Amino acid sequence: MEQTGPYLECHRPVGGNRSTKRDLVVDVFLRQEGHLSADDLVELIKKEDQRISRATVYRTLQWMVDAEIARKVDFGEGRFRFEHSYRHPRHFHLICKSCNQLFEFLSSDIEVLIEEVTAAQRFATSQSVLQIYGTCEACRTGCQPIAGTVTTELVFARDALRIAIATERSGLAFYSRAASITRDKRGRQVFRRLADEEREHLSRLEKRYKEVLAQDPQLEDRPPFLFFKGAADGLFAVGAEELSQGVDAKQAFMIGIKCERGSHRFFKRYGERFEDSEGKQIFLEFAEDEREHLELLIREYRALTRRSPSKRASARRSPRRANA
Ligand SMILES: [Zn+2]
Ligand SMILES: [Zn+2]
Repeated sequence: MEQTGPYLECHRPVGGNRSTKRDLVVDVFLRQEGHLSADDLVELIKKEDQRISRATVYRTLQWMVDAEIARKVDFGEGRFRFEHSYRHPRHFHLICKSCNQLFEFLSSDIEVLIEEVTAAQRFATSQSVLQIYGTCEACRTGCQPIAGTVTTELVFARDALRIAIATERSGLAFYSRAASITRDKRGRQVFRRLADEEREHLSRLEKRYKEVLAQDPQLEDRPPFLFFKGAADGLFAVGAEELSQGVDAKQAFMIGIKCERGSHRFFKRYGERFEDSEGKQIFLEFAEDEREHLELLIREYRALTRRSPSKRASARRSPRRANA
């Protein structure tokens, strides 16, 4: 257990008797959503078992922080709050100053920027905190927010699927267009095959999206958690645009390779960065799909270069290789 944040102390409860009390504290904590202070937790524990002392709750909270079950957050209220960290990705907070409600979000664009800034200073980051203070919509307008508790995990999964679906749609548009403009027969078949695969992946993702939505009737309308300005239109949109500028089969392959590589890197990079969650799974599985497409495109690009080495040959189809 080498991992602990530098700002944490290690108080580990010892003894078998304590561990049952600890189990209860952990269990009660994990049943809560949101951001609890130590006193909030003490109150909840007292309702379940009067004999558990404040000191035990405090020690167990610290133990959970060390064990990365809980994360300690400071909202500038003069006391810490605690939130789940298991299967709950790191995130930033919006804090309403009138009702003290917290809203969570994650932006990989911001994380990338923080990495750039700290790298430029050769700064070793131990923790980065972004908190935005203000007034929430409910406090400003009196309109009630969408009711019901929802886990960030579910919103995260929804958003990860939305990004994957947008990418898949733009990929489908790209390969359909590539198939329609490619005169090389085998090249055209490859693009058709990829379009079919994208279509199949897309229906798989849409099915999963429906399953996620089924877990909360209002999930679709809840505000986003994950922000990715770079991927919002789908990572193949630029490539599809390039195709309409009159390209040949080789160029179409090159553009496809560039898009698949960009997409694979994007999903792998962020998937690896997220903490264990369904959103992470979605990103990593998608990265794997994209890698397979990338490899197929590279193989086919090489085959195309071999059978049509000159410009003249690529313009007319070679009868010998027509059915290759
Ligand atoms: Zn408010
Ligand atoms: Zn939070």
